[in-house]
Amino acid sequence: MERLQKILAQAGIASRRKCEELILSGVVEVNGEKVTTLGVKADPAADVITVNGKPIKGEKKLYLMMNKVKGVITSASDPKGRKIVTDYLPGIKERVYPVGRLDYDTEGLLLLTNDGEFANLLTHPKHHVPKTYHATVKGVPHGSALEKLQRGIQLEDGMTAPAEVEYHDVAADDKEATISITIYEGRNRQVRRMFEAIGHKVVRLKRIKFGDVGLQGLGRGKYRHLTPQEVQGLI
Ligand code: URA
Repeated sequence: MERLQKILAQAGIASRRKCEELILSGVVEVNGEKVTTLGVKADPAADVITVNGKPIKGEKKLYLMMNKVKGVITSASDPKGRKIVTDYLPGIKERVYPVGRLDYDTEGLLLLTNDGEFANLLTHPKHHVPKTYHATVKGVPHGSALEKLQRGIQLEDGMTAPAEVEYHDVAADDKEATISITIYEGRNRQVRRMFEAIGHKVVRLKRIKFGDVGLQGLGRGKYRHLTPQEVQGLI
């Protein structure tokens, strides 16, 4: 059983606040009975809920992860006609949207859902879910530079929070290095800007982990449903 305004909001009728107003205005019925007070609970799977006489569709909640490829935009549509992440979800008819963003040229783990509350929770600045990336950079950063990233570094939008940073791989010719970095924030182009701040341009960026959910076993451009345990572990 869930509160009526939550069920209405999750069915995409309006924001929770607006749904409360709808209930108070007397246009919502549960099994043919008008509800005009807040706090009434209903079962979205069993009860017939109507707004202005029209039954709401209780949309099934979907939680997906994708292994995004480069050259795809993290957006629900693109006026320039570029590929968008939902082009990579064959078989998913529900409208899902990305949880946060990956840059056009960033690869790896992207979550998608139609659960607005789940998406808001995970992208809220107060929710410090760890996100791990493999950043391949030009040159080989000194350990002291990586320590700066670890402690926090000044960017134009302020200091970054402490991060976990370690060498993952160094090319034999020392021209490139891949660094594993875990951040607890989600600012725009944050990882690229952090490496720029220590003088190393990122040439490839891949997110390999979001919370406890990892990419392993998922091919490039493929998606899968999260398990209920994975969803629970993220919230
Ligand atoms: N940091 C970036 O710079 N880009 C991303 O896509 C994700 C994190």
